[in-house]
Amino acid sequence: PSPANSDSARDRAGVIHPMTDLQRHDREGPLLITRGDGVMVYDEDGKAYIEGVSGLWSVSLGFAQKRLADAAYRQLMELPSYHLFRHKSHPKAIELAERLLGIAPVPMSKVFFANSGSEANDTAIKLAWYYNNARGRPEKKKIIGRIGGYHGITVASGSLTGLARNHADFDLPLPRFLHADCPSHWRYGLPGESEADYAARLAANLEALILREGPETIAAFFAEPVIGSGGVIVPPRGYFDLIQPLLKKYDILFVADEVICGFGRLGAMFGCQVYGLEPDMIAIAKGLSSGYVPISAVMMNAKIWDACYAQSGKLGVFGHGFTYSGHPVAAAVALEALDLYEEFDIVGNVQRLAPVLQAGVQSLAGHPLVGEARGIGFLGGWELVSDKATKAPFPSPGMVGLMAERHCQARGVILRALGDTLTTAPPLVATADDIARIIAVVGEALDATHADLQAGVTI
Ligand code: PMP
Repeated sequence: PSPANSDSARDRAGVIHPMTDLQRHDREGPLLITRGDGVMVYDEDGKAYIEGVSGLWSVSLGFAQKRLADAAYRQLMELPSYHLFRHKSHPKAIELAERLLGIAPVPMSKVFFANSGSEANDTAIKLAWYYNNARGRPEKKKIIGRIGGYHGITVASGSLTGLARNHADFDLPLPRFLHADCPSHWRYGLPGESEADYAARLAANLEALILREGPETIAAFFAEPVIGSGGVIVPPRGYFDLIQPLLKKYDILFVADEVICGFGRLGAMFGCQVYGLEPDMIAIAKGLSSGYVPISAVMMNAKIWDACYAQSGKLGVFGHGFTYSGHPVAAAVALEALDLYEEFDIVGNVQRLAPVLQAGVQSLAGHPLVGEARGIGFLGGWELVSDKATKAPFPSPGMVGLMAERHCQARGVILRALGDTLTTAPPLVATADDIARIIAVVGEALDATHADLQAGVTI
């Protein structure tokens, strides 16, 4: 049949403009996932895969979770849609905000709802700007992210992201966005430099950056507790203990991006708890609804809120909000997800099984392709290199990672290569058997990739 008439959506997938190599996508077509159950997803031919990255770090509670579906259905029948503009509100959004403030890792004052992680970070950027306008210092507007950090893809959050692949072809970053060092000790530490010394060097570099730009021009510093989409980069020991006092010293707001780390992924409800972070704002998304519906939020502390509130009459309305901010169905599903995180003791499951996953991750550290094996909680990654001794990357960035990802997929495990770092982030309901299967398949896939490279096979 001609693609347009085909019964298989896979053959008709060309109607979508995908986020990938457009020509490769056209040539090879997508993997068409039609259904999920627990940690498994199934393609159109019924082939089963472990979803080893929780479908972009979101479906933490697994697929086909009836309680989440029922919560959505009940809310759809009661009040399917309403907004929070001009003194309107509705109970589910209020209840969700209360619940979030109740579990926030540090005292937070208010919740602003959005639909995606990018929008949550855009909102935090605007709040930082509004805050400094409210405080009568309109020149304090620069925003610092980090090389390797991922904060989203909109024009502002994409500027904050520190990945060349999201910048170069889109004329980003915008002015006012700066990037501090990437915290990968393995990649950027000097020979013989300890993690603690590396952390101290990065803090000194950050202070130099702040002084060079002028602290009076810098509004906020954004960081993920552990960098996720940038390739699972765990901060060096002591890093945040040195960074946070600098931000306080120069009156720079700290925003923790918990979009991946939040809701149990690191073995605590929030990554902030693992690293002792005391942010002024926290961005959350993905796991908030276990990925079942789009919803995100920024939690802000009283310092931000009070300044904004005191000025609101003078500055006019807080002119920022989305049609679907706090959408009732999304809020209802998120509330149910919060119940399930507790009932299933998700944090406990991650704490119990993280040692199993991390031991599995490390069991492949000696593989000839693996430069560094790393992770924490239910995040793991293998940075693949062309030379283990020199850490030299591959000449064609991302290709070997993709080869390894495909070998995993062929063996029934969906993982995600970020550049040449193959990564896993199992659903937080995964069992020891699921983890063992993921690790076994990664081992086979790395062997197969290695054999391909030795035979000169590429994709
Ligand atoms: N922040 C982090 C840490 C993320 O990992 C992501 C998405 N991978 C985002 C923000 C952006 O979220 P979204 O894709 O929902 O806009």
